Formats: sequence, structure tokens, C-alpha cells
Amino acid sequence: MARVYVGLGSNLGRRAEAIQEACERMVARGATLVALSPLYETEPWGLVNQPRFINAACAVEVPWPPLETLHILKRIEREMGRAPAARYGPRIIDLDILLFDRIHLVTDRLTIPHPGMLDRATVLLPLADIAADLVHPVTGRNIREHLQALGEITGIAPYPPGLPPQC
Ligand code: AMP
Repeated sequence: MARVYVGLGSNLGRRAEAIQEACERMVARGATLVALSPLYETEPWGLVNQPRFINAACAVEVPWPPLETLHILKRIEREMGRAPAARYGPRIIDLDILLFDRIHLVTDRLTIPHPGMLDRATVLLPLADIAADLVHPVTGRNIREHLQALGEITGIAPYPPGLPPQC
């Protein structure tokens, strides 16, 4: 079994339910859900003129190698109704492999660790809730340190509003 950290995002339809459903679908296919972070509502990144996202991160144990894991996540996205769309555009569900054990992999189809993860508070904030001490296999720094390195965080709030993130 491999320990995989998955970034989840949704900005169309029932966003929080989509995050939950994606986790259930991973489990239905044979993953074990180890942790799911609190949810955050976040300003869109990249393409800004679109609805706000709900973002979360989860830890799963999977029996699959990296490329098969990507295929399964992509299949879940399609099953949940995700249509091909603009890069960074609106989506019912987005599933990214952030970290996969301590693997460092660069191929046409798959890059691990996820190349964008260290720039985005939308990824690092929920990931730090479940794995603050986890060391990034390339930088040698942990998730808490990477989050601190981003400086002031704006445009992210616990979801539902008014609840502290640990609820
Ligand atoms: P996305 O826009 O998140 O749906 O990702 C588009 C493509 O990025 C996918 O079809 C993958 O082939 C590729 N990709 C590369 N590295 C990763 C990764 N770590 N996690 C998810 N997708 C990845």
C-alpha cells in the first residue's frame, strides 16, 4: 500500500457534497481513507472570473502504482460529471495527486510531487491540517514550513463560514 495525499476542489453544483462523494468513490475502488481535512472556501486561482471553490486534502492508502492512481482519479472525475474545460476553469470535481509516498516522478502524464502545490495556499492550508510535519521529498521542508513561506494568506475561509477549521 502507498500513502497518497490528494488535493480536492469543486466550484460547480453541490461543492461540499462533491468532495465527500469523491472520497467515497476512492474508497469504493479500494482505497482506505486515512484523513480528510476541513473544507475551505477559496477564491479561484488562475482564471478568476468564476465561482469560488471548496478545497480540501485527504490522505489515502492505495494498492495502485502512481499512473494507475491517476487513471482512477480521472475516471472518478468523469463519473461525477466533469466535462473537459478550460485550464483552471470551473469544475464539478478536481482531484490532484499531491504526494505519493516519497516518490519523485516526472513524466508527460504525471508529475509527483504535484508541481503547483507549493505555490498555493488552497492546497497547503488543508494539507497542513492533516500532515503539517510531512516532508516534501524534493525540497526537504515540511508542509508547515512551506505554508509559512507563502506569507500572508488571503481569499481562503473555513467552510461552512463561521466554523473554525477543526470543526
Ligand atoms: P487537471 O487540470 O487537474 O485535471 O490535470 C490535467 C492533467 O494534469 C491530468 O490529466 C494529468 O495528466 C496531469 N497531471 C500531471 N501531474 C499530475 C498530478 N500530480 N495530479 C494530477 N494530474 C496531474
